[in-house]
Amino acid sequence: MIPYGRQSISEADIDAVVAVLRSPWLTQGPAVPAFEAALAQSCQAQHAIAVSSATAALHLACLALDLGPGDWLWTSPNTFLASANCARYCGANVDFVDIDLATGNLCVAALAQKLEQAEALGRLPKIVVPVAFAGQPCDMAGIRQLADRYGFAIIEDAAHALGSTYRDRPTGCGDWADISVLSFHPVKIITTGEGGALLTPHRHLAERLGLLRSHGVVREPLSILDDGPWCYEMQELGYHYRLTDIQAALGISQLQRLPGFVARRQALAARYQHELADTGLALPVVSEHSQSAWHLYVVGWPEHHPISRRTALEALRADGIQAHVHYIPVHLQPYYRQFGFGPGLFPNAETHYQRALTLPLHPALTDDEQTRIISRLKTLLGTTHSKETA
Ligand SMILES: *Cc1c(COP(=O)(O)O)cnc(C)c1O
Repeated sequence: MIPYGRQSISEADIDAVVAVLRSPWLTQGPAVPAFEAALAQSCQAQHAIAVSSATAALHLACLALDLGPGDWLWTSPNTFLASANCARYCGANVDFVDIDLATGNLCVAALAQKLEQAEALGRLPKIVVPVAFAGQPCDMAGIRQLADRYGFAIIEDAAHALGSTYRDRPTGCGDWADISVLSFHPVKIITTGEGGALLTPHRHLAERLGLLRSHGVVREPLSILDDGPWCYEMQELGYHYRLTDIQAALGISQLQRLPGFVARRQALAARYQHELADTGLALPVVSEHSQSAWHLYVVGWPEHHPISRRTALEALRADGIQAHVHYIPVHLQPYYRQFGFGPGLFPNAETHYQRALTLPLHPALTDDEQTRIISRLKTLLGTTHSKETA
C-alpha cells in the first residue's frame, strides 16, 4: 500500500537516537533544549517549547492564555479534533467559523461577521485557533487585525505547516499569532515518533508553558518550601507533557532535513497540480501570500461525476493506493452534537468534506509511485459508466 503520508527516517536519524540511548540522559537532558533552540532558529521564533504532542501543546496554550469555564474558543471545523478539544479540556466552550471552500482554511470574512454578532451578544471568543490546512497558512494578517480589534488571542494550529511561509516569513515566527503549535506525529512534516512544540514571541507565555508541561513545578525562587537544595514547589496545577531526549534527538536530526523534505513535497505537489489540471478535479488553491510545505494534497472530486468520491477512494485503495479524506467536520462528531451542532451549520466545511480526496504525498513517495497514482486517477475520472445505482 502506498500510504497517504509517512515518515522518512535516515541512517543519521537512527544514529542520533542511538547516541542518546548510550548517553546518561534519556529524558530531561541536553537534547530537548537543543531541539528547542534549533526549532526557534528554523522558524525565526523567540521561544520554542517542546512537548509530548501537538494535542498537549494546544491544551497548554489554552491554559497559558487562561482559558476556562464560561470562555469561548473558536476554530475551523475542517481540522483534526484536537484543535477544538483543547478548549473542552479547560472546561471552555467551542464554536466554529466556516471555511473558504477554495483553501479549506478558516474564512476571515466569516470570522469578521461572526465577531460582530458575538460582540452584540457579549459572547466574544477569548481564543481563535486558525488551522493551516494541508500546510497552507491562513490569512494571518487579517486574523491579527480582528484580534487587535476584538481582543482575542491567536493560537495558530500549524500542525501541518512547519516549513511553510506567509508573507515571506516562516510559520511560527510570531509576527501574527500569539502561539503557534507544531506536531511531530509520523505523518507530519518532521517526526519525533510522537511530539509537538509551541512557538511564541512572548516571554511570559514561554515561561508559563515551560512550567505547565512539567507539573507546574519550580525549583527557584521558592516561596514557602525553602528548606534546602532538595526543595521544589508546585505553584499551579501542571501536567506531564514532556518530550524525551530520545525523541528530541530524532527531532534535531529530522529538522536538518526539513529543507529537503519541503522541497520534495513541493515538487510532488507541483507535479500533481500540472498533471491533474483540466481533469475536472478541484485542485488545491495556493493563496498569493503563502508558500505551503504541503503536508497534504487534497483534491475535490467532481460533483456530478458518474462515480462517487467513495467509489473512487475504494478503487484506489483496492489498487494499493491509500487515498484518504481530510477532514470530517468536527461539528458533526457525536461528542459535539450535545452542544447543539449538526449538519447545515458550516456548509462550506460540509461541502469540502463531501468532495475531499487526499492523495498520497510524502518525501519518500517515488516518481514511479506518483505516476501510478496519477494514471489510476485519470482512468477513474475518465470512467463514464458506473456500477453504482443512482
Ligand atoms: C495532527 C494534528 C494535531 C494533533 O497532533 P498530535 O501531535 O497527534 O497531537 C492537531 N491539529 C492538527 C490540524 C493536526 O493535523
